[in-house]
Amino acid sequence: MENKFKIKKGDEVIVISGKDKGKKGIVSKIIKKKDRVLIEGVNIVKKHKRSPNPENKKPSIVEESAPIHISNVMYFCPKCNKGVKIGYKITEEGKFRVCKKCETIIK
Ligand SMILES: [Zn+2]
Repeated sequence: MENKFKIKKGDEVIVISGKDKGKKGIVSKIIKKKDRVLIEGVNIVKKHKRSPNPENKKPSIVEESAPIHISNVMYFCPKCNKGVKIGYKITEEGKFRVCKKCETIIK
């Protein structure tokens, strides 16, 4: 619960459990209703798609990223070089997300 939605679109995250454990990627979509995030290159599933050409009856197989549960990912801090928890820091300029370990501001 704690880490929920501190992650934003465009963040680099690392998968911490499941078949893609250890994989990194950029969050391309957040699906709040389902507590899921879509990460480019992670959780690849094969989908059969019908060819747009009706003459060609053979379905083609395309690979797509499927959303994964937000609890399976952590923000990847390049400075710590690992998955970290996100905290908040309030400065004169406003409220920022920071890496809880090294306190680097996340942009
Ligand atoms: Zn850090």
